[in-house]
Amino acid sequence: MIPRSKTFIALASVIILLGLAMPSFPQDAPAVSLYDAAAKIGANLFWDPLSGGVRLSKDGHSADIRIGNPLVIFDYGKGALLDPPILSGGSPKVTATFVKRIEDFFSSLPPPPSYKVGVILIDPGHGGKDPGAIGTVTIGGKTTQIREKDIVLKVATDLYGSLRARYPDKKVLLTRSDDTYPTLEDRVELANGVKTGPNEAILYVSIHANSAFNQSSSGFEVWYLSPDYRRTVIDKTDTDATEILPILNSMMEEEFTTESILIAKSVSDSLQQTIGDKSQNRGIKEEAWFVVRNAKMPSVLIELGFVSNPAEAKLLADEGYLKKCSAGIYNGINTFISHFEGSRGFTAAQ
Ligand SMILES: [Zn+2]
Repeated sequence: MIPRSKTFIALASVIILLGLAMPSFPQDAPAVSLYDAAAKIGANLFWDPLSGGVRLSKDGHSADIRIGNPLVIFDYGKGALLDPPILSGGSPKVTATFVKRIEDFFSSLPPPPSYKVGVILIDPGHGGKDPGAIGTVTIGGKTTQIREKDIVLKVATDLYGSLRARYPDKKVLLTRSDDTYPTLEDRVELANGVKTGPNEAILYVSIHANSAFNQSSSGFEVWYLSPDYRRTVIDKTDTDATEILPILNSMMEEEFTTESILIAKSVSDSLQQTIGDKSQNRGIKEEAWFVVRNAKMPSVLIELGFVSNPAEAKLLADEGYLKKCSAGIYNGINTFISHFEGSRGFTAAQ
């Protein structure tokens, strides 16, 4: 905000001086409500009565206006001189010429890019030397050990097969396909190294199982990244508009977070459909620590259930139950993708 305001004030001062010599157009009175104009154009209007600043935005483009100021700034760059907006009856009013100019600006823009999911990266937790959570199951008097790394690999492999079949045009990847141990760094590096086309997003789906001291703890839950966590998600080489980078950066962060919440919700709802009759739904949760914290993509972590709970351990040892887990995650991803690709992709940050 700071560099932009400074530019605005500097430009505005020059233009106010120039404006003294400008002819006025009394035949075109500032009588059109900016709210009505915004509604007509289909733009969002943000008005800060304290500063007198008004922003119209649509599809990631913006027009910045100030009460009493003839300068309109489009997309933080190009300026235009118009009859200054006034404050009348408590709301900003402009001339018909003003509205036409803004309308022309927004309608001259190319349609917003349509986003698609290019890559789905499935990450079965742990593996190899790291078994993850360990539980025991007694069936027919025989006690066997169940390990998180094996449970999540089965679910991930099944999910991988379903997603490959459903989305032949997308890259579906596994961080491991056998009993090996990629480090957290390996997983994040793999995630961040995946090449995507323009306007393509990567979904990151990490699959785990839980364990607790208290054997009565049970149920499945889906985690997403905490909105407080700030990542650098835009490559600095992408733009030389260095002063707006921090803003874009924080906007992208918000959008990735929103998408992560949406996938988390879709997956949680779908798991409720497939395993909700047998396992408690512990809901969606936010956290800043998990494996995807460095991954530049919408991401979720699924805890399938507690291996420390005797009844749930029995479920998690059952192939049929794991297939239901995988089906739940699969349905959730499908729901998310159809939302994501059906809308303009990332939800607009306001
Ligand atoms: Zn785990």
